[in-house]
Amino acid sequence: MSFTLHGIPVSRGIAIGRAYLIAPAALDVDHYLIEPTQIEGEVERFRAAQQHVHRELDTLRADLAADAPSEMGAFINVHSMILNDAMLVQETIDLIRTRRYNVEWALTEQLERLSRHFDDIEDEYLRERKADIEQVVERVLKALAGASTALNGVHGACDEMIVVAHDIAPADMMQFKTQTFQGFVTDLGGRTSHTAIVARSLGIPAAVGVQHASALIRQDDLIIVDGDHGIVIVDPAPIVLEEYSYRQSEKALEQRKLQRLKFSPTQTLCGTRIELCANIELPDDARAAVDSGATGVGLFRTEFLFMNHKDRLPEEEEQFAAYRRAAELMNGLPVTIRTIDVGADKPLDSMGGGDGYETAANPALGLRAIRWSLSEPQMFLTQLRAILRASVFGTVKILIPMLAHAQEIDQTLDLIREAKRQLDDAGIAYDPNIQVGAMIEIPAAAIALPLFLKRLDFLSIGTNDLIQYTLAIDRADNAVAHLYDPLHPAVLHLIAFTLREAKRAGVPVSVCGEMAGDPALTRLLLGMGLTEFSMHPSQILVVKQEVLRSHLKTLEKPVADVLASFEPEEVQAALKLVALA
Ligand code: PEP
Ligand code: MG
Repeated sequence: MSFTLHGIPVSRGIAIGRAYLIAPAALDVDHYLIEPTQIEGEVERFRAAQQHVHRELDTLRADLAADAPSEMGAFINVHSMILNDAMLVQETIDLIRTRRYNVEWALTEQLERLSRHFDDIEDEYLRERKADIEQVVERVLKALAGASTALNGVHGACDEMIVVAHDIAPADMMQFKTQTFQGFVTDLGGRTSHTAIVARSLGIPAAVGVQHASALIRQDDLIIVDGDHGIVIVDPAPIVLEEYSYRQSEKALEQRKLQRLKFSPTQTLCGTRIELCANIELPDDARAAVDSGATGVGLFRTEFLFMNHKDRLPEEEEQFAAYRRAAELMNGLPVTIRTIDVGADKPLDSMGGGDGYETAANPALGLRAIRWSLSEPQMFLTQLRAILRASVFGTVKILIPMLAHAQEIDQTLDLIREAKRQLDDAGIAYDPNIQVGAMIEIPAAAIALPLFLKRLDFLSIGTNDLIQYTLAIDRADNAVAHLYDPLHPAVLHLIAFTLREAKRAGVPVSVCGEMAGDPALTRLLLGMGLTEFSMHPSQILVVKQEVLRSHLKTLEKPVADVLASFEPEEVQAALKLVALA
C-alpha cells in the first residue's frame, strides 16, 4: 500500500530505491543490580567497550577517503572526545560503583541525564549535539553486546538502496558514500544536525525528522526520497514512480549543466557583478569554497573550533593556525571570520565561564555570542589577536555576531584596538586596516541601523536569527517550526531596509543566513539590492544560475510589489511575478 511521510528536507535531490533499514538504537537494555564483588569487573567491562569503540573510530578516521568532506574528520574527533569525556565516562562509572547498576543501565541512565541537560540548550546547533552523544553511547552499547556497529552490516548493499534509520552518526555517513547509497531518511534530526550538514556536503538527497519512518517502512520497500521537500513516498504507484524518475533525470541533467557555470563570472543580464561567497565551519572547508567558485568566505563560523575543545579553549597559536590556514587556502580572496557565536555549551562552561546560561529562563535572549565574548574579555582578546595575526596571510575581515547596542559595538571596537596594541607591543604583524563588520540578526540592529553604519566597515545580514527574533519563533522548537517564515512581510521589510540604508551610506552589506543559499529567493534578494551572498558551497552554482538569468531593472517593480504586500496571498502572487521577471 502506498503512503507518504513528511519530514524536514536537508539535502536536495530525488532518490529512488529500496529501503535499507538500519536497526534502531540499541538503547533498550537490560537493567539489573550487580553484587559489590562484581563492581570492578563491571567497570572493566565498560573500559574494554570504550577501548573497542576508540579503535573503531580510529579505523573510521584512517579509512577516510582523501576527498571526504572535512567535516568527517571533525565529527569523528568530536565522537572520540565524547568517548573520553568525564561527564560520560566518570559519571557512568560512579553509577556502577555507587548504585551498583550494570554498565548498560548506568550508561543509559547517564545518557538520559545528559539529554535532559541538552534539551534546555537554546542554540539549535548545540542542542543537536545531543545526537552525537547518543550515537557514541549506542556504539558503546553495541560493543558491550558484542555486536558490530550498524554500518558493518551494510557492506555489500547495492547502489539502489536508501538508508532508513532512527538516526545516523555523521561518522557513518562516509561509509554510505563509499557504498554509493542513493539517499537517506531518519526519524530524528533537524536542519542543522551534523548528519544533515554531512548529507548536504555529500550531495545525497535526504530527509530527516521523518517521524516513525524506521517503524513504518519495511526492509526492501520501494521508496522515493524527495530531498527538496522532505517527502518520502513508500511503495509508490507506477505513475508516481514514473513522474519522479523523470524529475530525477532532469535534475541529473541540471547538475551536469551547472558545472559549466563554475568558471564563468557571476553577473546579471544587465552586467552587475554579484559576489557569491561561502559559509565555512572549519579551515579546510575553504577548499570546497574555492572548488565551488566562491569569491571569498562570507562567514567562517569559528565556534566549531571552540566546540572541539572540551576541556580547554583553543590557545591563541592554535586559533591563529586555523585562521591562517583558511586565509592561505583562499589565496588572497576575502575571509570573513566571525568571532565566537555561542552561549555556553559544555566545553565553555568547563572553562569557568560562569555565565548562568544553563539556568537562564530564555537562553535565546541571554548571554550569547558577542554578549558572552564581552563578558569574557581575555578569551575574546585571545581570539581577536589570533584573527589579527592571520590577517597578514590573506584578506581577513572580522565579523561580530548578535550586536544590538551602541555600547556593545564601542566595547568591541575598544577590545579590537586593545588586541592591536598588544600585538604592537609584542612586535607582531597584522593588517592595521582590517575591516570590522557586524551581523545584522537582531531586529533592533536593523531598525537602529545608523548606529552600525556609523561605526562599522561592513554588515552581514544573518537571516536565520533575524527571522527567529523578528517572529519570536525559537529556531530549535519543532512546535513552532511551521511559523518560521522567511517571507513574512516584517522579515522582508527589515532585510530590504538594511540593504537600502547600507547602500545609501556606502557600507558593503551581504546576506549570510540560509536565505542567501535558497535559489527560490535569489531574485527577490537581488531585487532588494543585494550584491553579496554567502552560503554553503554546494548552493553556489544553483544560485549563480539564478543570478545569470536575472535582470535587475525588470526585478524592480515586482520586488517593490512584494514589499508593498502584506496579505500572504498577495505576497505569494507578487513573488510569482518576481520569478517570471
Ligand atoms: C544567521 O543567524 O543567519 C547566521 C548566519 O548565523 P547562525 O546560523 O550561525 O546563527
Ligand atoms: Mg546567527
